[in-house]
Amino acid sequence: MIPFAYSRADTTADAVRAVSADPDAAFIAGGTNLVDHMRLEIATPRTLVDVSRLPLGDVIDTADGGVAIGASVRNSDLAEHPAVRSRYPALSTALLSGASGQLRNLATTGGNLLQRTRCPYFHDPTTPCNKREPGTGCSALGGYARDAAIFAATPDCVATHPSDMAVALALYGGVVQVLGAAGDREIPLNEFYANEDPSHDTVLAHGELITGVRLPPPTGAPSTYRKVRDRESYAFALVSVAASLRVDGGHVADVRIACGGVAHKPWRAARAEEALRGAPASAASYEAAADAELAAADPLPGNEFKRRLLRGTLTAVLSELSEEQ
Ligand SMILES: Cc1cc2nc3c(=O)[nH]c(=O)nc-3n(C[C@H](O)[C@H](O)[C@H](O)COP(=O)(O)OP(=O)(O)OC[C@H]3O[C@@H](n4cnc5c(N)ncnc54)[C@H](O)[C@@H]3O)c2cc1C
Ligand code: SF4
Repeated sequence: MIPFAYSRADTTADAVRAVSADPDAAFIAGGTNLVDHMRLEIATPRTLVDVSRLPLGDVIDTADGGVAIGASVRNSDLAEHPAVRSRYPALSTALLSGASGQLRNLATTGGNLLQRTRCPYFHDPTTPCNKREPGTGCSALGGYARDAAIFAATPDCVATHPSDMAVALALYGGVVQVLGAAGDREIPLNEFYANEDPSHDTVLAHGELITGVRLPPPTGAPSTYRKVRDRESYAFALVSVAASLRVDGGHVADVRIACGGVAHKPWRAARAEEALRGAPASAASYEAAADAELAAADPLPGNEFKRRLLRGTLTAVLSELSEEQ
């Protein structure tokens, strides 16, 4: 690990100023992802600005019936928050399926959104990787691609985003709140992650601070999150599905689907949603919707299995939600 300076920001404006002014500075929150990367020298900030104790640690009910989640809210606190458990249950389930109790006690909302890919080559500085070292190539193409994306991958990078929390936030229409040197702005989660340039995981500029995530009021439709992985705990998703479904008179009245482990971002399954609107609430409809979504998939030889896995998981989740109604 290279030597670095450490300071703690007292205000969001101070934090933004300190990092914006220094290209070698970085925010640190729980440190559960960044410190690992510093040990591997994948990340080499010269200055760390600690944002974990900024006054961004609350979950607040908003006037429109939604919630505003501060960037410093710990993953464990968010998962247990009464408003989240009762109104956004898939978010609670997604958070509790991630990492371990100890890690969730440290990990924050902002840091979780910005955790980096678990692609093995990204963590191995002896191999080419466009995300870690732009222009060197992508070792996952033609290499180990079990974890890789099946949607919207590029010839430069096929990495997936590993956050469970982000998938549930995408389901509920989360909007990321950001403060930068030029002021504040809001970015819908669906537009937050980018893959045009593999070295930039998101549309954030250097020095932009995530201050929170706003969730609109829940639709009232039952929702859930299911994560499929190699072992039952302490493993990242091979595939995950967050879905909400409302059935009326035996037909699908309202449906939303977000998938994890399949793209560089939480993947909103717009084709499946479209196929389901007004369709009979049956396993046949759910399978057909999964097939409609998977028509856009472009897997590699090493992750072709994700097609079947996603089809089965999506069908099972939607069937479970409709059986409850
Ligand atoms: C063994 C292990 C298993 C894990 N398993 C899972 C899992 O199954 N599912 C899952 O989703 N996650 C998993 N994780 C990842 C974990 O959830 C993340 O490490 C954690 O959420 C990161 O949050 P943090 O606050 O510690 O971020 P940090 O490590 O402090 O920061 C991460 C990044 O975010 C930036 N940052 C932090 N806060 C802000 C802010 N407010 N504004 C702008 N930039 C900011 C930092 O500069 C850094 O680039 C696992 C981690 C480990 C180590
Ligand atoms: S998939 Fe992305 S992160 Fe993985 S080796 Fe290729 S460029 Fe690097």
